[in-house]
Order: sequence, then structure tokens, then C-alpha cells
Amino acid sequence: MLIFLREYYLLGTTQKYDRIGKIICELMANNPVLLTVLAHPDDESFGMGGTLAHYARKGCDVYLVCATRGEAGDVDSERLQGFGSIAELRETELHCASEQLGLKGVFFLPYRDSGMPGSEDNRHPNAQINASVDEVAGHVVKYIRELKPDIVLTFDPIGGYRHPDHIHIHNATVLAFEHSADAAFHPQAGLPFQPARLYFHTFPRWFLKVAVHLMPIFGQDPTKFGRNRDIDMKSIAVMNFPTHAKIDIRDVMEIKDAASACHASQGGMGMRRGLMGLFVRLFGEKEDYMQAYPPVNGKFKLKTDLFS
Ligand SMILES: [Zn+2]
Repeated sequence: MLIFLREYYLLGTTQKYDRIGKIICELMANNPVLLTVLAHPDDESFGMGGTLAHYARKGCDVYLVCATRGEAGDVDSERLQGFGSIAELRETELHCASEQLGLKGVFFLPYRDSGMPGSEDNRHPNAQINASVDEVAGHVVKYIRELKPDIVLTFDPIGGYRHPDHIHIHNATVLAFEHSADAAFHPQAGLPFQPARLYFHTFPRWFLKVAVHLMPIFGQDPTKFGRNRDIDMKSIAVMNFPTHAKIDIRDVMEIKDAASACHASQGGMGMRRGLMGLFVRLFGEKEDYMQAYPPVNGKFKLKTDLFS
């Protein structure tokens, strides 16, 4: 006890606050549980990393189910030194990011990265998109029933930027969420359980629209954005998803940066620098969510906490 008090005394104010939050959560019978279901190593850091770190820091049990190991990612050959495959490298990067974000567990589904539309990877028999949505949902529901999350997060209906794997795992997660309390749905995947809420991570439309207008000024084509020049920002910006929750992640910016840096083979901190990084810093750090379940009808008050 004396050692604990001495250690506590030596902590900074923020660390003291975190330690108290953690102790309160540990004393509670059950910690709040958050499960995010995504497609590739790096989706958890580049997209919603702030939210995951924010809740992990508050003492919630945060889990990630990742559908693939990112086999189709473009990786410079020198980065592969010491690794048997791209999958092995990206899995290692994900475990690094998971540690930074404070995740309690990371689980992979048995699928291969499907690559961007039209690529050779689409045709691989083990590509996630070649498994039925129902089959993938059978894997997802197993984790929902085992981990018993209060809330489930996944991509929006266009998978953020229309990546086929993102859209496929979105559809599978929605199906799994809708039927997780139905004993007849994949009965071998555990006992029925119903999480309270389902959210889709969305990119703020106004932000995308501003980016589309500013990019040509900086000599960039908004229809050919990203490391592989395969993201059409223009077509994404016109999609309209409501924002029901905005999570302030300023307190965990450094953690999100550190987790992003773990994914060095996919651009790492480069994704948080450059033109897009400048936009992000200029317009503040918030992560947006659409609440899919329970459905939001009519007027609503913008949430600042996914658990409220
Ligand atoms: Zn992805």
C-alpha cells in the first residue's frame, strides 16, 4: 500500500487522473466494453484511433476484430526485411498500434485482403469479398457474443472511401449486430447477446468538401488521393451521413500519432502530416459517428460520448 501511495504521489496530474479512472473501472463488476470491427491493420489507427485510445484510457475494455491481415497493401521491399510476408509485417505493425492505443485484444478473421476494385487480389479465393456476408457475419457474431460489447463500431455504408473490404465487413457487422440476440442465427457461435448501440465512423462531409476545393490549389487531384491514388475524394464528399456523435480526441492526439507511426509500411505518420495532416490540425481533432442502432429519428442532440 505504501509503495502504491509513493508511486501515485510521483505521478503527474494527468496520470493521476487516468490511474483513478482505471481503479474505479476495475472496482466496478464489469468495465464498459467497446468492440470495433474493421478490415485491415491500420484502419484502427488512421480512422478512429483517437476514439479507441480515448475509451481505453478511460478504463473501458476496447477490442478490435480485423477481417484481414492487409496482404494486398503496397509495401516497400526494404520494409519486408526480417518478415516472411506482408501479412506478417502488417500484423506486427497492428500489434504495435494496439499497444499504443491500449486495446485489450485483437482478433483476426480468416480472410485475405481483397485489394482495391479491379485488382488481381479481388479474385483470390480467400479474399474477404468472396465469402458471403452471412459467413463473415457468423465470425463477427461469435466475437459479439463472447466479448459482450456495450457498443459496436464499424465503417459507414460506403466503407469510408469505397474499399470493397470495408463495405463487406460493414455489411457483415450490421447483419451480425441485428441478429446477435437471435438464437437461430449461427447457433454454433455462442449464446444470444444484444449490444446496446451500433455506430458507423464517418468522415465529416464539410471537411471533405473543403479538402476537395483546396487540394487543386496545392497541386493535388482530389479524385486520385492516397498512397495508391485510388481514392476519389470528390465522390465521397457528396455522400451524406448524419453525425450523431462527435468525440473530442485532443487529449489522446499523441497516442493516435504513435499508433499511426506503427504502420510505417502504410505511410505511418505521413498520413498525419502533409496536406491532409495540415487540414486535420487546422480544423481540430474530433472523430464523427453516425448512430445506426437504436435508430435516430427526427431532432436529436449531438452526443459527445458514445456510451451516453
Ligand atoms: Zn482498410
